Amino acid sequence: MAPPYAEAVAARFPPPPVQYATPGLAPGRATYTSNDELAQAMRALAAREGGPRLVAAGRSHEDLPIDALHFARAAPRGAGAAAAAGRPRVLVIGQQHGDEPAGAEAVLAVAHQLAPGGELAPLLERIEVVLLPRANPDGAARAQRVGRHGSDINRDHLLLRTPEARAVAVLVREFDPVVVVDAHEHTVVGRYLEKFGAVQRNDLLLQYATTANMPPELAHASEAWFRQPLLAALAREGLTSEWYYTNALVPGDLRLAMGGVQPDTARNVYGLRNAVSFLLETRGVGIGRAHLARRVHTHVVAMRALLAAAAARADDLLALRTRAGAEVVAAACRGEAVVLAAQTATTREVVMLDPHTGADKPIRAEWMSSLELRPLRTRPRPCGYWLAPEADDAVARLQAIGVRVVRLAEPLRLRAEQWQEVTSVEAQRPDVLGRVSERQTARLVQVTLAPRERVAAPGSWYVPMDQPLANLVFSALEPDSPNSYFANRLLPGLDSAARVLVAPWR
Ligand SMILES: [Zn+2]
Repeated sequence: MAPPYAEAVAARFPPPPVQYATPGLAPGRATYTSNDELAQAMRALAAREGGPRLVAAGRSHEDLPIDALHFARAAPRGAGAAAAAGRPRVLVIGQQHGDEPAGAEAVLAVAHQLAPGGELAPLLERIEVVLLPRANPDGAARAQRVGRHGSDINRDHLLLRTPEARAVAVLVREFDPVVVVDAHEHTVVGRYLEKFGAVQRNDLLLQYATTANMPPELAHASEAWFRQPLLAALAREGLTSEWYYTNALVPGDLRLAMGGVQPDTARNVYGLRNAVSFLLETRGVGIGRAHLARRVHTHVVAMRALLAAAAARADDLLALRTRAGAEVVAAACRGEAVVLAAQTATTREVVMLDPHTGADKPIRAEWMSSLELRPLRTRPRPCGYWLAPEADDAVARLQAIGVRVVRLAEPLRLRAEQWQEVTSVEAQRPDVLGRVSERQTARLVQVTLAPRERVAAPGSWYVPMDQPLANLVFSALEPDSPNSYFANRLLPGLDSAARVLVAPWR
């Protein structure tokens, strides 16, 4: 299919100098690598001597396998500190959105390069790599963004309502990655042509985790250790890049908004798990197979740069993970945490393309920055949370992302406080585009807090905040944010949980 724009625009995106041997990129192909072809290629890699291990992460809504490859080399004798402590692990996720095929093709290409004898195999002296080429096989089979259930998998990493997000969580819990990379594609023409009279230019849009409450050192490491070498690698290949941004589907809204700040996407949820967490987006949605080889190449260049950066910083990453976890642990019972934050309005000039001449077309726009967070609501960090016996669904979800939850065997006196509803509205949980992709509404409440002594019954639960994943607990259990378990009916009522103000055990 020819790209939906002038030849002069297409000429700005020549094919790359490299060819990747994925089924979907074979000469003359009209379709992407199918689910069967992908499974076959992964089995073939896993069958090789010294090759990766095939990991069954889960099954999709339509019962298709969601499989990953785990690349690890046995640590040699007398190895350095990184090997002694276990090598840091990098998780790469492809195609959470079914109509964004370049990610899966690129992850498969990277898998070939990490296999024995491949040019990336030496990185395995320093890191382990887990590759999940296609997180949404149902969507891929239909070339649709959402899963077969109709929900956006990439907004489900805290709530875990979809089997696909649960499969990603299985990998995250098993491998505890220190770096997470999530490969997507972005809209090229569509509303950019309608609203700005322009076509998207950048080969890659990228962003690391930008959500409240993360230890600041994670953002610094994301920028200095990863984003800078990534930008240099793209520039060396003649590929252009910009911060990730999008534009609301609402007509007349001319703001460009960076990726969101809510704890819902893989990027942000796994950032709150104290990982360096990157979103990569090639220019691909709505242009069919146009420039597919270049899109895949762009992802491969970016993934290689991030893997190389992780290998170069292996010891630093393990130390960072330890420090970030300790910082979160030490913050229990102290200071304030952010319940709800928003982007900051600034302006920025981004370069798009003239749809007729292909010339650069600078667009100066209002720019909703996620790099400067505006806290809208803050609250003291409790020592922990009590959960009622009937909150077992919420408990299972917290445990699925690796949170430690204690079941009380004996009655326990707790100094606690309770949320009390001030107002409540039913509303959709829109994403940063204003797009709603789930049927259920969320209950959005405003609350006040009232002190309450409580004797917790045996069979109820305690979730301590002095654990490294406490920021995820805070996101899930403070009820008055659109992503909370209460808002999304994963907790029966406001009285199914309470904030614990004094740690019950010393
Ligand atoms: Zn996407």
